[in-house]
Amino acid sequence: MESTDIALIGAGPIGLEMAVALKQAGLKYLHFDAAQVGHTISWFAPQTRFFSSNERIAIAGVPLQTPDQGKCTREQYLAYLRAVVQQFNLKIRTFEPITNMARDKDDFQLTTNPRGGPRQIRARRIILATGGTAHPRRLGIKGENLPHVSNYFQEPHLYFQKNLLIVGGKNSAVEAALRCHQAGAKVTVSYRRDQFNPNSIKYWLLPEINGLIQSGKIPAHFNTQPTEITPTHVILSKSDGRSVQIPSDFVLLMIGYQADLSLCKMAGVELDGPCQLPRHDALNMRTNVPGVYVAGTVTGGTQDKFNVFLENCHIHVQRILADLTGNAPPQSPLPQQRPES
Ligand code: NAP
Repeated sequence: MESTDIALIGAGPIGLEMAVALKQAGLKYLHFDAAQVGHTISWFAPQTRFFSSNERIAIAGVPLQTPDQGKCTREQYLAYLRAVVQQFNLKIRTFEPITNMARDKDDFQLTTNPRGGPRQIRARRIILATGGTAHPRRLGIKGENLPHVSNYFQEPHLYFQKNLLIVGGKNSAVEAALRCHQAGAKVTVSYRRDQFNPNSIKYWLLPEINGLIQSGKIPAHFNTQPTEITPTHVILSKSDGRSVQIPSDFVLLMIGYQADLSLCKMAGVELDGPCQLPRHDALNMRTNVPGVYVAGTVTGGTQDKFNVFLENCHIHVQRILADLTGNAPPQSPLPQQRPES
């Protein structure tokens, strides 16, 4: 049985920033992730650029430079995260999922399950930095598990000269539609509303997608909902009750993601409202369970309208550190500029 003062769970950007802060404060901690550092970001399609500018996603005081001063790509950001880990010599137990967590008097007993078999860890406090987009949202329709259907837009080349149906109507769907069209795919879009919401879609994406739809280069089926996926077609139901069959070699379900709140539940953190917000005090990030903190986008639960992003979570690290070390909470940041994400 190992023991530690703090078990930090999650090695995304905010988890790493938290680790640096704990280490610099001389606090005893162990750091775990079920997968690799920056795992969720590693899902992005090659060369995807962040919407947030570099200074807003930089962590731990380490400048994030890009060769062209443009917004960081997936590849550049993953390299940056690896460099931060190396720079601060962070010890992270990657691919070591937490499979159980139970209170034992004033402590917590954790079971982890790395490849070599289960391990027991005793920790006085827990910091959950487990992110907000662990699992894809599901449609719950027949054919959703067919091999040509995916919730991850990974490589436009795959769709070259193929019929690709993209479902969804926010930034992931629009960005994937534009990139795949430019890569030579025959893209069709299905969206459940009557148009894209200009307040939701980035201003540099919206004119391009609307232009391609208006010129017929990207057929769009608004007010439709997929009801069945077959190996060759997708059946879209229209709001007037009729349906249409769309030939599809591939289907990309860009319908959003859900937070994995299983560790919050195991720890006894209460989850509020339809988004299942982990109950916490924003001043110090303490949850309703003494000794358990939340940091990063997990604080937003499963977001339907996104307002908690990496870029506005850095303050969580300072709040938790202040609480752990008995210092006054940090000043709130200056009035938040509109998030760029
Ligand atoms: P999202 O904002 O949650 O959008 C999900 C889309 O799927 C919405 O259009 C939603 O419809 C639709 N949808 C949800 N459930 C559905 C269902 N059961 N059936 C049919 N349609 C359904 O997810 P996202 O577009 O992946 O964006 C997530 C976050 O990532 C956002 O903050 C976004 O800005 C960010 N993002 C960043 C980048 C980048 O940095 N390059 C790229 C893409 C996205 P409604 O519109 O009706 O809700």
